[in-house]
Amino acid sequence: MKVVNGEARGNNGGMTIATPERYREMLESARHNGYAYPAINVTSTQTLNAALQGFAEAESDGIIQVSVGGASYFSGQRVDDRVTGSLAFAAFAREVAEKYPNISIALHTDHCAKPYLDGWVRPLLAREADEVAHGREPMFQSHMWDGSTVPLKENLDVAEELLDLSAKAHTVLEIEIGAVGGEEDGHRADIDEKLYSTPADGIEVARRLGLGERGAYMAAFTFGNVHGAYKPGVVKLRPELLGEIQREVASAAKAGKLGSRYTDVDLHDNKPFMLVFHGGSGSSKGDITAAVHYGVIKMNIDTDTQYAFTRAVAGHMFEHYDSVLKVDGEVGEKRYYDPRSWGRTAEDAMAKRVVEACVELGSAGKALK
Ligand SMILES: [Zn+2]
Repeated sequence: MKVVNGEARGNNGGMTIATPERYREMLESARHNGYAYPAINVTSTQTLNAALQGFAEAESDGIIQVSVGGASYFSGQRVDDRVTGSLAFAAFAREVAEKYPNISIALHTDHCAKPYLDGWVRPLLAREADEVAHGREPMFQSHMWDGSTVPLKENLDVAEELLDLSAKAHTVLEIEIGAVGGEEDGHRADIDEKLYSTPADGIEVARRLGLGERGAYMAAFTFGNVHGAYKPGVVKLRPELLGEIQREVASAAKAGKLGSRYTDVDLHDNKPFMLVFHGGSGSSKGDITAAVHYGVIKMNIDTDTQYAFTRAVAGHMFEHYDSVLKVDGEVGEKRYYDPRSWGRTAEDAMAKRVVEACVELGSAGKALK
């Protein structure tokens, strides 16, 4: 791992948190070179540092994100304010990430469903637009609007509004079309036909939001995805559906059916969308490779990195139970119950899972110069 003390580098001025321009370069590079970035959910400074450690070890650029619950948790469990938590996460990340000058990291807010828009992503975008208006950078590089629980028309009405705000904030928007099943942050979604979005959905998205000319966005079309870990056979991913959506939208664009004129360059070799893969944990290598082949450039990983972290903590506690606990009138051993002792082990284990993700998605060794 190369860690250099605050050394300036390239046009990024020594900042590891990607500028808006650097983030576009990252996304374009993944898109044109056929790889994807792991987007790692974090809920604490320990898991944030573990994610940075993993990306640096893999020599990979990457994305670090907070969920709606993670953002609240960052603010302190009694404070429970997701704007405060998001800004605290971003400020801490910006400071420590400077010590990893060889990689670029984008910060992202994950799944913002309709009930949270006014208390989370809208105020963040307003703050960021204000920063940009004052010649500074936004705190985050992208935000997700999760309209999967509302009808497609309403989903895209909100997406249009947020795409305009994102342009002012110099951030990228992520949308979700269809619904990801399973459980995340205590929210459950059914495992049913909404798990599969359609080429017609894709055409409607392109008709309403354009294909980049109105502002950059990424789209999570669902193809059987679920959050969480399931036993083999429960989840049937159909990554080829992403290929169908890309192809049909590209041909509708060429046939002039989308309202705007698009060239082959705009259509990125018949892959007009930058796609996001939700529920990446536990997916097979074949499904991941196929999804990346069809234009996935960001894959979310939460469950597997959570497990890697907690598994290491459990190992420490079971192995040293008579040192972390005061057993039979003994006093335990401070060096085993100091939170750093199990914290370091847990961070190493999580960083290792992040490295695996970078290798699997092809981003390892490809950090932009
Ligand atoms: Zn997700």
